[in-house]
Amino acid sequence: MKKIMVIGAGQMGGGIAHVAAQAGYSVILNDLNDEFVTKGLKVIEKNLRRNVEKGRIESSECEAILGRITKSTSLEDAATADLVIEAAVENMEIKSQIFSSLDEICPAHTILATNTSSLPITEIASYTKRPELVIGMHFMNPVPIMKLVEIIRGLATTDEVFEKIRDLSVEMGKTPVEVNDAPGFVANRILIPMINEAIYTLYDGIASAEDIDNVMKLGMNHPMGPLALADLIGLDTVLSICEVLHEGLGDKYRPCPLLRKYVKAGWLGRKSGRGFYIYE
Ligand code: NAD
Repeated sequence: MKKIMVIGAGQMGGGIAHVAAQAGYSVILNDLNDEFVTKGLKVIEKNLRRNVEKGRIESSECEAILGRITKSTSLEDAATADLVIEAAVENMEIKSQIFSSLDEICPAHTILATNTSSLPITEIASYTKRPELVIGMHFMNPVPIMKLVEIIRGLATTDEVFEKIRDLSVEMGKTPVEVNDAPGFVANRILIPMINEAIYTLYDGIASAEDIDNVMKLGMNHPMGPLALADLIGLDTVLSICEVLHEGLGDKYRPCPLLRKYVKAGWLGRKSGRGFYIYE
């Protein structure tokens, strides 16, 4: 594998492009338009320059990493990729369109990975004619910092593809954990119900957002409270994952009405400037 294309230059896609380029790969960073790709690249640049200031990397290394990333606004650029990692929005209709197009565009050897937080890998693979080359590669946010990558095989994923993705995760400085293809995998099956319960706690008027977060930080030693974490993930993404858990696992995973209301209002957390907290 030499060239990796990342679809979606948002917080996850940008982070994946960053760690892939840092591991020495040529990276194509793709989004719907130039504004989105440029915004994603600026975040990567800012994070790398901060690492230079803190003495974590040399400035020559920073330039070399940035030099390995090229911008793209056309899926056709996947024609030269050995691996595509999709990190577009958490929506099956959008992912299905991307995967069926990639299947037409990519060479026969190209592995198609998805960073989905919760959607079934086997279904995503079914939109291609190469389900054996489709796999889940679920990074955590923020990607350059968090160590875990959940690796999820679809029903048809080969051992060879699994091993390549596992080895790549290690090259990127991550610790891969294999989990089965089930709603929310492991991370979000456990995390999202806790966040949803924190939102219900706010909705029921039990405590303020700050106090709910303080209870979990000071009482449970969590580095960040669940509502601040929801704002970091993006409330649209939290709702989408919650819907998948609800549909797949039953009523106890029903999204809180307050979460739906915030998403309808466009209060998506940090990325929109307002969620449970207000961001400058
Ligand atoms: P985001 O909203 O920050 O970014 C999504 C990006 O995808 C946007 O820039 C959007 O323009 C782009 N996009 C949408 N449709 C596209 C298309 N057809 N082609 C190319 N680009 C397209 O979202 P995010 O938080 O980066 O999440 C991306 C994926 O990663 C989702 O599947 C999400 O569930 C998953 N994920 C998110 C987190 C998290 O904490 N936010 C963690 C792990 C996994």
